Amino acid sequence: MDHSQTPTPEALAELRERYRIERERRVRPDGPRQYVGADAEFGYYAADPYTEPVGREAVRDRVDVAIVGGGFGGILAGARLRQQGIERIRVIDKGGDFGGTWYWNRYPGIHCDIESHVYLPMLDETGYVPEWKYAPGEEIRRHAMRTAEKFGLYADALFSTSVTSLVWDEASEAWTVSTDRGDEFRATYVVTATGTLTELKLPGIPGIETFQGHTFHTSRWDYGYTGGTPDGGLTGLADKRVGVVGTGATGIQVVPVLAEDAGHLYVFQRTPSTVDVRANRRTTAGDVGADRHGWARERRDNFLRIVSGESAEEDLVADRWTSSAGLLEKLLPSFRRQGDRAASEAAYEVADAAKMNEIRARVDAVVTDPDTAEKLKPWYRYACKRPTFSDLYLEAFNRDNVTLVDTADTHGIERMTERGVVVGGTEYELDCLIFATGFSAGVSGVLSGRLPVHGRGGARLQEAWAARGPRTLHGFTSNGFPNLIQLGGVQSAPSVNFTHVLDEHAVHAAALVAAAEAKGALIEPSREAEDAWIAVLAKDAPDHAWFHAECTPGYYNAEGRGRPNGPTAYPHGAFAFHGLLARWREESMDTILQPARPAR
Ligand code: NDP
Repeated sequence: MDHSQTPTPEALAELRERYRIERERRVRPDGPRQYVGADAEFGYYAADPYTEPVGREAVRDRVDVAIVGGGFGGILAGARLRQQGIERIRVIDKGGDFGGTWYWNRYPGIHCDIESHVYLPMLDETGYVPEWKYAPGEEIRRHAMRTAEKFGLYADALFSTSVTSLVWDEASEAWTVSTDRGDEFRATYVVTATGTLTELKLPGIPGIETFQGHTFHTSRWDYGYTGGTPDGGLTGLADKRVGVVGTGATGIQVVPVLAEDAGHLYVFQRTPSTVDVRANRRTTAGDVGADRHGWARERRDNFLRIVSGESAEEDLVADRWTSSAGLLEKLLPSFRRQGDRAASEAAYEVADAAKMNEIRARVDAVVTDPDTAEKLKPWYRYACKRPTFSDLYLEAFNRDNVTLVDTADTHGIERMTERGVVVGGTEYELDCLIFATGFSAGVSGVLSGRLPVHGRGGARLQEAWAARGPRTLHGFTSNGFPNLIQLGGVQSAPSVNFTHVLDEHAVHAAALVAAAEAKGALIEPSREAEDAWIAVLAKDAPDHAWFHAECTPGYYNAEGRGRPNGPTAYPHGAFAFHGLLARWREESMDTILQPARPAR
């Protein structure tokens, strides 16, 4: 099919059939159970390679706010609380410093996929102007630390520490926070900012434990073995046969660096990603108008408008996210509002086919070996998987020391031996195998059950939600769990620019705490307020299950099982959600404040 032409109905029918076949090739009966977590005998995969925990006394005091998680969510919550004048703020994180996902993920080649000028939060407040359109991970990690420093979050932080339980104490109207380092302290408020893709997963490949070579997961990069830095120079791999499993957003970034430095690189691919133009470049303050007050907020709002499917007069970021926004956000009401449903879906399918044809044509244009090029072409609709962007990935397959091993027909690597991995009956001998196999979705913190939360009367949040489904007001607060605010979770509104979402949530959380402090009240929504919010979510809940059911498997669709319809998120997109929150703070915030005991 010529990708520059509008696809004919016959071509679309052919594509649909091809997509169906490619999906069928990949669906596994074990679905999400094909993966194993970094627990028990695999626990060492999750160990922190960057920081040796230091001994310290357990803390047994009282703080105003405990923040669980020191990634951008926790940092932003701390910063916004500071701006509201809250003094005793304690951030607790499993990692050895601030940064969250950017603390753990330091693999070579790591960069942000979202433009750094809209991804990095607090640019107006810190005066920092990113140096690249898409920043390297280390620049982002440093910005996380810079922000934490600026808002005085280091002094009371507990690192290399995991919160093990949160228990509401009725008598003192405070939370008891317990940790794996023996801490047990009180916090008047708790903010959870535990992230979404934090629990690394490994493929449950038969024989994985028998492999005698070196292995690790990309989120715990072993520079002691590979040498080098996130910028490359992996001299330890010069004479090594290296395998990498996984070609998602992480694999796409790490492969070009490994290709450069490894003796030989085997890329074990199951489903190819869409790899679009990246066009990274150095930027100056002048490029983004950083001399104007509020430039970063304006740019960030503009990006969110566009990727939320709202109209905008101009496109300040002008990259492949904004130009493809219509394809990614088609499930929002702004798409569904377009009158005739069948006509919109037909137009969407045409646009989708054109985009995917463009992506596949790019593979042919770059990759010289036709057989390899064929294997690298993705056959599914654009929004089925997280899009990726690179000007180096496809090029890596033109090197003599790189071999692409397609594992689709065997549902991934078949088995591992002492010497290497087996695919299609062929054994590939390896010195090192790197897992770029991602993270378990939606099982972090509170939702994972790893962080038991007991509210009024000892009721356990996880049990209450398991029995009746999540119940919140705006995704943040729940009846029976006073002064507990969950950031970035269910029943709010996600977006590809997650740090922006987290910042809006942090502003909201800080406003709630400030209002409760001013009135000497507790933050706790009524059951009626929860019911009303769930009704808002349900009213326009998208019927997108059909879309995901037709996609190739991945974490977007529970490995091919589809995604449930229903009220899991605010249906009108992040931009509209933030507006709703701001209005609610103006008009209705008092409704969440309940009388507290006089002397707390
Ligand atoms: P993903 O879950 O997206 O990818 C995992 C990869 O491992 C897939 O290619 C998967 O194939 C493959 N895989 C799993 N099991 C096997 C097996 N048994 N044999 C062969 N291959 C296997 O994880 P990532 O870490 O790449 O990305 C996770 C998320 O993190 C992204 O979606 C994105 O949200 C975020 N991210 C963001 C970045 C940014 O710059 N902002 C950079 C990197 C990640 P299959 O598709 O067939 O399941």
